[in-house]
Amino acid sequence: MTTLITIRPPEGDPYDLAIEDTGFVEPDDRVTSHIETGHLWALPGLADAHAHLTMTSSNDIVGLSDETMRENIPVTAWAHVERGVLLILDKGANTDVSLVSLDHDADLRPYVEVAGAMIHPADGYMEGYGVEVEPEDLVEHLRTKAATRGGWVKIVGDWPRRGLGPVTNYPVDTLTEAVEIVHDAGARVAVHTMARAASDAVAAGVDSIEHGPFLTEEDIRALAVRGGAWVPTIGNQKYWIDALGPDSSGGRLFSAGLDQMSENLPLAEELGLTVLAGSDLAIAHGEIATEAVLLREHGLSDRAATIATSTAAFDYVGREASLTAGNTADVVFFADNPYVDVTVLDRPEMIIRRGRIIE
Ligand SMILES: [Zn+2]
Repeated sequence: MTTLITIRPPEGDPYDLAIEDTGFVEPDDRVTSHIETGHLWALPGLADAHAHLTMTSSNDIVGLSDETMRENIPVTAWAHVERGVLLILDKGANTDVSLVSLDHDADLRPYVEVAGAMIHPADGYMEGYGVEVEPEDLVEHLRTKAATRGGWVKIVGDWPRRGLGPVTNYPVDTLTEAVEIVHDAGARVAVHTMARAASDAVAAGVDSIEHGPFLTEEDIRALAVRGGAWVPTIGNQKYWIDALGPDSSGGRLFSAGLDQMSENLPLAEELGLTVLAGSDLAIAHGEIATEAVLLREHGLSDRAATIATSTAAFDYVGREASLTAGNTADVVFFADNPYVDVTVLDRPEMIIRRGRIIE
């Protein structure tokens, strides 16, 4: 069966395209059916660039067995597909079990790239979560033990210590060498930073800055020039302000970070820095549209917030997402133009994944 659809992109003229099996083809005399989509706007899928498919909520952060994480993955992955989220960058887990998402049936999940066990030194992250690697052992660990098959390695760049505030986990020289090792293995490095390690991570050549509330203007410029990515996770920042209390020392730090993010986001847009939307469990699986709205509230235009929540992530990981013949038939339709009103991302009218309409 070959089905004719109309693609109306947020910018540019509408055009006809056909779906045959799991792919897009040129519309020709093979067309046997028609789905009316000319009144809708089309994107190649939403994307969540900071998810953790092994967990269902922040409460799961400590104590889940590999078996439970393994059971969670197909459920959380499907929650994304049902809301039109067709690309996930999973930014790490307690163990390398997160990588099993790569082996699941492609019809039943988004495209995934995934980091394994999160890497940090002792006291450098939530106790008992991920794998502890001291700075002097980091390079060797990455060379011989870290999982790179999923395309990402996740390193915790800074973490608060009692009485000291946030402390940088790895010296910049170590981080620089780490990035080279991971790149040689064909993967990218994502660094969690809630404090000053952001500047070290940028200087070290890290690919993606996760959170990064204290990126400086200089960092934003440097990251833009070398084509890095920034995943601000505004929903997560707000979650922690609420959880810690806005008047606690932690809450004040997160609030100051949110203010800094609100200054950095317009600059990032102006400079063409790749900003990506990430849910990070503060926003439920599949609801990345919520982060898109927060990105707009904190400084991006509707257009840039939409791009951050869709095409930018596909482009960043080098996955062809253009709605043209020869590509996989993935498309999500909306009733209004998301470049004009980003809130429409929360209400997909129709989702097609690998040629099949998702009910
Ligand atoms: Zn996270």
